[in-house]
Amino acid sequence: MLTKKYAIQQTEENWIDWFLANGEKSFRGKQVLEWFYIKQTFNPEHFTNLPKQIREKLQNDFDWGLPIIDTILPSSDESEKILLKLHDGLFAECVLMPSENRVTLCVSSQVGCRMACTFCQTGKMGLTRNLTTGEILTQVVIANKRLIERNILNRSVTNIVFMGMGEPLDNYDNVVGACKALIDPKLFGLSKHKVTVSTSGLLPQIEQLGKDLPVALAISLHTADNEQRSQMMPINKKYSLEQMKQVLLNYPVQTRHGITFEYVMIQGVNDSLQHAKKLVKFLHGLKAKVNLIPMNPHPGAANMVATDFEQMRIFQKYLADRSIPAPVRYSRGQDVSAACGQLAAKRKDEINLPPRTVALARRREYLAEKVKQ
Ligand code: SF4
Repeated sequence: MLTKKYAIQQTEENWIDWFLANGEKSFRGKQVLEWFYIKQTFNPEHFTNLPKQIREKLQNDFDWGLPIIDTILPSSDESEKILLKLHDGLFAECVLMPSENRVTLCVSSQVGCRMACTFCQTGKMGLTRNLTTGEILTQVVIANKRLIERNILNRSVTNIVFMGMGEPLDNYDNVVGACKALIDPKLFGLSKHKVTVSTSGLLPQIEQLGKDLPVALAISLHTADNEQRSQMMPINKKYSLEQMKQVLLNYPVQTRHGITFEYVMIQGVNDSLQHAKKLVKFLHGLKAKVNLIPMNPHPGAANMVATDFEQMRIFQKYLADRSIPAPVRYSRGQDVSAACGQLAAKRKDEINLPPRTVALARRREYLAEKVKQ
């Protein structure tokens, strides 16, 4: 039996090809995406601006199922982690963070991640697969539906950060496809400044991104010492800080504050004045903002704890005195394992388990489901 393609995984180009092959005009492709992402309708029977026989053909040719919500973990700070079960039984997470004047959604771009950063739970799971453009965008659709369910009326997601599971630029085409839909005025219509792609430093892809998309760029930096960064983030062995700086000096910056650098503050590891000095030297000549993020504890990194308040203040002041804005960002959703570096496709009863144990549990479930099919 032929397996149908999942409708939600098709790109605009795929839809255009399908319509042309079925004797229709190419603009129909955009019409389908508008039904998905503006009207949030995923049943072709309701696509009333399409001819009836084409709606029937769409129904027959594709599988119209969506990822389902497996678990919602509400945090005491009003954010919530949403664990989604994908078509093939794998899991991806996103984190919804409503606040007074904005609603931010942290989206995943991969199931797991192969970058193996030492302070990150996702990195300990390894990479299972890339998410498709449709799977990335449905995280936004599902988050918007959650806002309605939670009675957060007249609100929809305003800011997207690609800081969930995965290295976005390791899944370049799907992430760029999703960003294009997010900033397309006829689809999600978000401001290009409010879509942020965060990377550990895949330099060729950063260069390409600067040519392809006008969105905001964030770099997971965490130290400006080459040797230390190679220990914390293996990608640094391939692309050094010097090479990164060259690429960033030429990057077409889109936002007023320039490039954002994420800096997880780990006590006794990267939080000394010496580290601050190296950071200032690295940033010299770049338009930059540094987000200082106290390390979020997790079972996979028992020996790493957050820098204390006083040391954080000293570090921050050193940067601020040299005209580098460096706000301290406390991650939301820590109590439900939804904070920065804590995502590992966990359910409520698994919050205190090491990421590898959870990854193995998910794998067992996945294989059991495959056997059933
Ligand atoms: S910090 Fe980002 S790039 Fe590094 S392992 Fe975690 S998810 Fe991957």
